[in-house]
Amino acid sequence: MQIWMAASEMAPYAKTGGLADVIADLPAALAGAGAEVTCVLPFYRAIWEKIEVEDLGMDLSIELGDRQVRARILQGKADDGVRLFFIRRDEYFDRSSLYGTTRGDYDDNSERFIFFSKAACQLPRLLNQRPDIFHAHDWQTALVPLFIKLEKQVSGFFSGTGTVFTIHNLAYQGTFWGLDFPMMNLPDEFYSPAGLEFYGNINLMKAGILFADRLTTVSPTYAQEIQTQESGCGLHEVIRSRARDLHGILNGVNRQKWDPAVDPLIPAQYSVNDLSGKWTCRKALLEEMGLGADPKRKLPILGWVGRLAEQKGLDILLPAMDSIVDLPARVVFLGSGDDRYEQELRELEKRYPGSVAVRIGYDNRLAHLIEAGADLFLMPSRFEPCGLNQLYSLVYGTVPIVRSTGGLADTVRDWDGRSGNGFQFRGYDSPELLEAVGRAVAAFHAPGEWARIQAEGMREDHSWDRVAARYMEVYGGI
Ligand code: ADP
Repeated sequence: MQIWMAASEMAPYAKTGGLADVIADLPAALAGAGAEVTCVLPFYRAIWEKIEVEDLGMDLSIELGDRQVRARILQGKADDGVRLFFIRRDEYFDRSSLYGTTRGDYDDNSERFIFFSKAACQLPRLLNQRPDIFHAHDWQTALVPLFIKLEKQVSGFFSGTGTVFTIHNLAYQGTFWGLDFPMMNLPDEFYSPAGLEFYGNINLMKAGILFADRLTTVSPTYAQEIQTQESGCGLHEVIRSRARDLHGILNGVNRQKWDPAVDPLIPAQYSVNDLSGKWTCRKALLEEMGLGADPKRKLPILGWVGRLAEQKGLDILLPAMDSIVDLPARVVFLGSGDDRYEQELRELEKRYPGSVAVRIGYDNRLAHLIEAGADLFLMPSRFEPCGLNQLYSLVYGTVPIVRSTGGLADTVRDWDGRSGNGFQFRGYDSPELLEAVGRAVAAFHAPGEWARIQAEGMREDHSWDRVAARYMEVYGGI
């Protein structure tokens, strides 16, 4: 099976979130399952700084409204059996960030990703290779299924190509003003509620939802949630109209990068059969974060890693912090994003020296150390399509405390005294969060119980091979 993927991120080269991890790991797992996989990405500055590429000496001419814009084709070296192609146009992609700066999104994002999606669709023809599946991800490449469908009507080239569109996060839809519509060179009828029009704007995500042969999203619960008015971000009815073709498939964990038994980024390795290395990691984390030693394991360490964004639940966590520190417990934060949260976290650290430690920034090594060295992991998200950090926490024996939403609901089972791999709460409010933290801290002080919760999470199979098999089923069903 020839599978092509178009995406706007791939770890470790170009990453803002979980999408990048999926695009790094899913293609490799599909290749491992026998598929021939090709990924097409924009040639960002972050990529040319990190990866060796070959200029194939080939150009594409992309129609954007009444202009023709050239794209150069580069091929990258991948070592996991996946072919990588990059679409080069420096005017669009030679920038410091992927989508924008702290001052806001780049104001030509619609043009950049309409261009990229068109180029990704033209590349198979340039190379004379017919994909069996073209799989697009999130709003940046949501036009791909539509362009393939329209191309099928004018030529036979894609007649055997099925399309799949994956929603990694419905909160980001790629909505732009209607004046950008002509750049897509679509028939006028697509500027309507049955097409891409969305309350007077155009919505690129809608193209993927309406026109792909199959839809997937990154957890079964999120697949249900996005069909409701509360969580459908205005698109619930459109998604409901495709419910029969929608599948919720959880992401996996890349055990080459996230496995305490082999992780080179942590000071000591450990496994479910011998957790002594976790103790060393715990000590190292306290030291690195400037928190005093705790040789008698009296003060549980709660970890938090992520984007400082409204989605991630800081609005209920920050008001609960006084009570958490009083338990007593310690909390370490690593994140970057919204200035408002950065400010509040810095103030919190000042207010509770020795109990709260904050690092602002993106730091993969420290993220690993927190996953390994903390006792508990906090994910009180308002919504969470899949979530990776709670999966990493399970693998690292760091018991997750999560709000029961999206992929968090599907992966964390509340400890009931006999079974469970973590702690859950339902309502999006601080008292419910605190109740779950209270139960988790009580379990932490009951060593026998604690070991059972840790072991239950650490023994689970979150491998990408299992996930790839699910995608192969979806591809095969088209
Ligand atoms: P989202 O995609 O919504 O950002 P996920 O939990 O699905 O959330 O994935 C986030 C990924 O980004 C994880 O691999 C996490 O470890 C990583 N990450 C997020 N913020 C940081 C940070 N400040 N430093 C290091 N890694 C981070």
